[in-house]
Amino acid sequence: MATTKVAIAPMKVAEVPKAGADFQIVDREIPKPGAGQVRIKVQACGVCHSDVLTKEGGWPGIQYPRVPGHEVVGIIDEIGAGVSAWSEGQRVGVGWHGGQDGTCPSCRRGDFRNCRNLKIPGISYDGGYQQYMLAPIEALVAIPEGLGAAEAAPLLCAGITTFNALRHSGAMPGDLVAVVGIGGLGHLGIQFASKFGYRVAAIGRGSENAALAKELGANLYIDSKAASAAEALQELGGAQVILATAPNSKLMSELVDGLGPNGRLMVVGATMDPIEVTPLQLIFGSRTIQGWAAGTPADSEDTLHFAELTGVRPMIETYPLEKAGEAYARMMSGNAQFRVVLTM
Ligand SMILES: [Zn+2]
Ligand SMILES: [Zn+2]
Repeated sequence: MATTKVAIAPMKVAEVPKAGADFQIVDREIPKPGAGQVRIKVQACGVCHSDVLTKEGGWPGIQYPRVPGHEVVGIIDEIGAGVSAWSEGQRVGVGWHGGQDGTCPSCRRGDFRNCRNLKIPGISYDGGYQQYMLAPIEALVAIPEGLGAAEAAPLLCAGITTFNALRHSGAMPGDLVAVVGIGGLGHLGIQFASKFGYRVAAIGRGSENAALAKELGANLYIDSKAASAAEALQELGGAQVILATAPNSKLMSELVDGLGPNGRLMVVGATMDPIEVTPLQLIFGSRTIQGWAAGTPADSEDTLHFAELTGVRPMIETYPLEKAGEAYARMMSGNAQFRVVLTM
């Protein structure tokens, strides 16, 4: 049988030609979905700090050219062979969890989130900085009606990360929960923590974000530049959970002393610097330090439904796909309020 290569029309793609190179907007043929895949007509894709792994080549074995993007929302416009649970015209998303192998020890225990061969869109295969994207069905997230594409996109990485970390943190309604950093992750973490019924202490550097933190649902604001945040938390009885979103290991180290008995430091802000802690800091008070990464597509759906139900929304700045380089630079500047999203 002859294989026919169907070139419908070229599509626009923002690709990284090689590690460290600038973005290039190029034309490519619209790809055909293979078995177990769907093709998504992309509507929006968030620009996440983890895209630096693709842009700068920080992921072992990454191949180029590569299209970044793991906060993708769009419409299925074609399904591949063997796909029955998803249909054309359905709104879907793809987040950090881009597919599991189904065979590793973690997957065999049903722990797909910790698959040892986890696929990540924009790293393992081309992600959402393009007009059409192929995705395996195990990565698909159904998008609820009540959320627009551009506001749903950041919930698929920044949103799920904070939502899932908090709901697995052990904190109960009424507990003192501190959210460190009023940024891309933190501004969502504050909203989720507030809607979970926690007593929310937002911790930021300087007083300029105090009003915004309270608007987002924080009950109180601690300026870590003006005072010791750990002492401020101890004066309130100690935090049950500290969600550390700011990629600042020094601050995380200082905040261990802000935990109450059985308190937990939940680390989601990614950095290469070590957190310093003494055994005694952990032993007295039975404190825990735990890391957390995103979650499965089902966890993403929980995040989206909860956001739809409670009004949690990301604050976004949108850029057209053609300005991917500018959008990425804006995200890297740290000045975006708060998530940058490409729209197609
Ligand atoms: Zn991300
Ligand atoms: Zn696996």
